[in-house]
Order: sequence, then C-alpha cells, then structure tokens
Amino acid sequence: MVDGELMNEVLTGEFSPAQGAATKVPQKIIVAYHRAAKRRHESEGEVEIDDGAQVNVFEDGGAYVQAWVWVTDEDACICPTCREELTDDGKGYDGECDSCADRSFEASKPWKPESVWDDHPKFPSSEWRYECDNGDTRLGYVDWVNAQLENDNA
Ligand SMILES: [Zn+2]
Repeated sequence: MVDGELMNEVLTGEFSPAQGAATKVPQKIIVAYHRAAKRRHESEGEVEIDDGAQVNVFEDGGAYVQAWVWVTDEDACICPTCREELTDDGKGYDGECDSCADRSFEASKPWKPESVWDDHPKFPSSEWRYECDNGDTRLGYVDWVNAQLENDNA
C-alpha cells in the first residue's frame, strides 16, 4: 500500500516507484492515469482506488493503477457468523456453516421456553400429550408448539 504522503512524493517526482515503473514521469501524466482509472474502473463497494494509489507508468504507454477489489464472505466461502471457512460446498442456511445454521434455525423459532417444564399459554402440554397418545404427532413438545404457532400464522 502507498499512503497519501507517498503519493505526493510520486506526484512531485521525488519518489521513483520500485517495481516496473518508468522514472521521471511528469506529475500531470500520473494524475491523468489515476483520474482515468477512477473514472473507468471505480465502482463503490466493488473497486476502490485510493487517492494515494501507486501508478506504474509503462514506457510503451499505459499504466497500472493500484486498486482494492471487494470480496464477500459468500465469494470466499466463509461463514458470516463464526468467520470460519466453510468445510464443504453445501452451504447451510443463508450461507452459514452447518452449526451456525442450526443455531440460527433454533433462534428463529417463535417460542423458546426458559425451561423444558414451561407450558405455552395457548398450547398446553396436556394437548400435546393427547396428540402423542393418539399417534397424531411425533414431535417433542417445544417443536410441536412451534408447529402450532406456524399453522396459526399460515
Ligand atoms: Zn459458522
């Protein structure tokens, strides 16, 4: 990275970029390449070109202008929640890894009792037991309550 101060040195010709750059390039030429790079390639959130970007001017014409390109977690296969690299290509819910996706799914359930012994005010466990005895459900109580709430909202 070249910071702003260094860029000023490049512009005033006091600094010669080390790699592959022509020396003694007039300031206005460097500025023109830099301006053209911003105009042609810069796109907010995608490609950013700093004010202090290095400009490597080639003798035969043209120049490389240093730029930043944005990469998303999704592009890099990184779980947005735990910042770990996803182990397989099969992405979980919303691009999360399997364990984060499981947690998100649990957290997304509307009813989360504080204790396993809590009864939902509208769907008491006695009703759930009745359905279990009749073979109408094989869900656990909490899952059953959430299924009832989903049916209510549907
Ligand atoms: Zn994760």
